[in-house]
Amino acid sequence: PLVLGLETSCDETAAAVVSGDGRILSNVVMSQLDEHRPYGGVVPEIAARSHIDHLDDIIREALDKAGVSFADLDAVAATSGPGLIGGVMVGLMTGKAIAGACDIPFMGINHLEGHALSVRLTEEVAFPYLLLLVSGGHCQIQVVKGVGQYQRLGTTIDDAAGEAFDKTAKLLGLGYPGGPAVEQAARLGTPGRFDLPRPLKGRPDCNFSFSGLKTAVRREVEKLGQQITQQDVYDLAADFQLALTEAIIDRVSRALDIFLEQHQADQHILVVAGGVAANSYLREGLERACGKRGFSIVAPPPALCTDNGAMIAWAGVERLRLGQVDDLSVGARARWPLDPDAPAAIGAGV
Ligand code: ATP
Ligand code: MG
Ligand code: FE
Repeated sequence: PLVLGLETSCDETAAAVVSGDGRILSNVVMSQLDEHRPYGGVVPEIAARSHIDHLDDIIREALDKAGVSFADLDAVAATSGPGLIGGVMVGLMTGKAIAGACDIPFMGINHLEGHALSVRLTEEVAFPYLLLLVSGGHCQIQVVKGVGQYQRLGTTIDDAAGEAFDKTAKLLGLGYPGGPAVEQAARLGTPGRFDLPRPLKGRPDCNFSFSGLKTAVRREVEKLGQQITQQDVYDLAADFQLALTEAIIDRVSRALDIFLEQHQADQHILVVAGGVAANSYLREGLERACGKRGFSIVAPPPALCTDNGAMIAWAGVERLRLGQVDDLSVGARARWPLDPDAPAAIGAGV
């Protein structure tokens, strides 16, 4: 079957056509980065309007690149949450309209499930596996037991990892988006000068916290004051990246142990997804921690790590196989945890 996937939950307008055997016939992503850059972050109203302006063209382009027409599609999958609600509604309503007009099944996809399953689009990874999702909006560890079956081991109790990078970049005057800028600056610095915290280190659960780390960076910037030099910025970026990496490794190591205790798996795999997975310092650290416990790391290729339509189409393929289709009454959800019994108070409901 051919599935059209639509993604509009944040600041990427994206459409893709994916086949049932995992071929990506097209994967068109339009980033709104330049539209949000003047504000130093994503502005929800601008995002929603931009999705309206561009989604039709992006879908057209995805069909053309795939060499198919609406009549060739077998199903439509669109992100129906969690995310910025205005944007989610644009993709969801467009997807429903196409499915209705073509009289084919529709699936409202959980954006996080798109990230969670995307690795299976390019690699043979069997359930169950561990997932570390680190992006601008999310930071969580899940056991992926199957399609629609998740066990949350940990989530952030305040900021997401990418958010911590972005806020730190702002404090250091490094521009937006902050992750790549901080990584670049850290390469020119030497860690060890500043004493930054490793939040929640050693705790028996697998939760994350990054707001204290960001506050510690702010305090150091304030201490340096007007005299702050370029080298100070580089060194502080290096210490921030080190502290964040060590904190994540500590929490992930705990999750690896829990997975080994609780789950039977032929392969022991940690899947890392989300924009922050692009950070090579973090990746190297995670590889060492995984190696010690006999886990291997698998990450989707970078274009599938950040938000895209192919991962939504693929989640649609996986659900279609199981007959898990929705009717057209499915609604948009700003919040939608992967695991239904997750504690609502933690991690902003996602
Ligand atoms: P979500 O997917 O959770 O809805 P999002 O669209 O903001 O949110 P992504 O597009 O997956 O998330 O990732 C963007 C985030 O990744 C940003 O916070 C960015 O700073 C961060 N990021 C990108 N590259 C790097 C890097 N090399 N090092 C650290 N962080 C990075
Ligand atoms: Mg994004
Ligand atoms: Fe995402």
